[in-house]
Amino acid sequence: MLRGLIQEVPLLISSLITHASRHHGDAEIVSRTVEGPAADGSGAIHRYTYRDAHKRARQLAQALARLGVKDGDRVGTLAWNGYRHFEAFYGISGMGAVMHTVNPRLFPEQLVYIINHAEDGYMLFDLTFAPLVEKLAPACKGVKGWIAMTDRAHMPKITLPNLLCYEELVAAENGNYEWPQLDEYTASSLCYTSGTTGNPKGVLYSHRSTVIHAFAAALPDALNISARDVMLPVVPMFHANAWSLPYGCAMVGAKLVFPGAALDGKSLYELFEAEKVTVSAGVPTVWLALLMYAGQEKKKFSTMNRTVIGGSACPPAMIKTFQEEYGVQVLHAWGMTEMSPLGTVSTLKAKHLKLSKEQKLAIQSKQGHNIFGADMKIVDGEGKDLPWDGKVFGDLLVRGPWITSSYFKGEGGDPLRLDEKGQGWFPTGDVATIDPDGYMQITDRSKDVIKTGGEWISTIDLENIAVGHPAVAEAAVIGCFHPKWDERPLLIVVKKPGAELTREELLKFYEGKVAKWWMPDDCVFVDQLPHTATGKLLKTKLREDFKGHKLPTA
Ligand code: ADP
Repeated sequence: MLRGLIQEVPLLISSLITHASRHHGDAEIVSRTVEGPAADGSGAIHRYTYRDAHKRARQLAQALARLGVKDGDRVGTLAWNGYRHFEAFYGISGMGAVMHTVNPRLFPEQLVYIINHAEDGYMLFDLTFAPLVEKLAPACKGVKGWIAMTDRAHMPKITLPNLLCYEELVAAENGNYEWPQLDEYTASSLCYTSGTTGNPKGVLYSHRSTVIHAFAAALPDALNISARDVMLPVVPMFHANAWSLPYGCAMVGAKLVFPGAALDGKSLYELFEAEKVTVSAGVPTVWLALLMYAGQEKKKFSTMNRTVIGGSACPPAMIKTFQEEYGVQVLHAWGMTEMSPLGTVSTLKAKHLKLSKEQKLAIQSKQGHNIFGADMKIVDGEGKDLPWDGKVFGDLLVRGPWITSSYFKGEGGDPLRLDEKGQGWFPTGDVATIDPDGYMQITDRSKDVIKTGGEWISTIDLENIAVGHPAVAEAAVIGCFHPKWDERPLLIVVKKPGAELTREELLKFYEGKVAKWWMPDDCVFVDQLPHTATGKLLKTKLREDFKGHKLPTA
């Protein structure tokens, strides 16, 4: 081999914050704090710069080292999107330890399981979670210290023998700290999948995978972020690293705005306007609430021009509303925790520009084309490649430098499937089509797809139609037992507040939009739908709740 003559500089997470501080030092990081306003009304919003964040991340690294945290040790976080959490992203990983973001919306038993499974030595937590921490602590014996992310004046009134104060720990250090030059394959962070079935599984990222993923995610045909942007990630930092935005924004020097715990439509809208946010990112349920608020209050966005929507299928009706009523371009994205998380984004190619609005909407409604680095394919039951004709669907497999090779401690089995060249592909659990232009469209999670008389029906397609009805706020479709066809679609709907709609009207709405045998057999109205800890429809619960439902066609 003739080796290239290029400097060997490892791809490290610390280099992102070093870069942001050196080259975009005065770009702002603004956070809505969890502590809330002081008695005089000030202080609810905290602002500082990448330069300040870099110094405090180094102080945090020093503080953790003083507590005895070593290379490879896991340090957990139970926190909202905010500046101290951002410091943890860099301080913990930067020093060579592993940052473990814990999703506080999981059930306490799951939290205990993952904190113990990860062997977190310290846990950082936001004040909101103080009561939760008090409950978890007795069952998490390995945690040597619970660090409240606040100052002395706001310390929570909980009795824990090993309660520490973040601001005191940081203030005791001077920030004169050199980031270690780690091997780029060193583990940097850990995130568990929400595990709707079985125990949560740990995905262990590396410095290299994180930095390469951040490069790819920032590209113009991916999330398209730049130094002229103001990004407000609504997607939590505990959900697949907030889709890499804490890294990507530092890489390009974008201003960051963190919403803290206030994720309702009104609070988000006010922050978008006050901080002149240009781009945001989150799951469809969050945007549902925001659009509801904006619609009721007749608000428009003065600076936001685009938003990334993923985590669940974004209904075409939502894309249309954002784009046509609010002038906000939707970037429909797909990925998963095991993929760091980005795999595809739906942006148009040059040849699409001349298409009609409706044709463009149809492309944007797909989950999109691959971003370089996360290759994909669809296969049949025997593992044979299926054609990219936009019609045939199969199991979606992915492969690339930021995709999981196996789960933490090997628990969760060996996930990879080998191809004929012996290369490992990760099965996503999604069923999808890929069209000749390379746009992938998810038909369903393989366990959600409705199998009726040997044929398959996509629940996502049926849900997208229902939410296209002006009286529908949210919809879920599940397979319901049918004596002749095994399963038939049952539509479960939440109406918009004050809207009038009958079962018959909604079922009629499907006529002409789908093949006759795809039409839901029944429709029920409910006040709300259950969601997972990451904002997806919790279909396991719905299937359980409607197990005894008798279809009128049965
Ligand atoms: P969790 O299970 O922790 O919520 P993930 O975010 O890893 O985790 O979930 C990944 C799954 O979410 C994907 O496999 C897919 O089923 C679904 N998903 C993500 N984005 C989309 C999208 N744009 N359209 C449809 N499904 C999506």
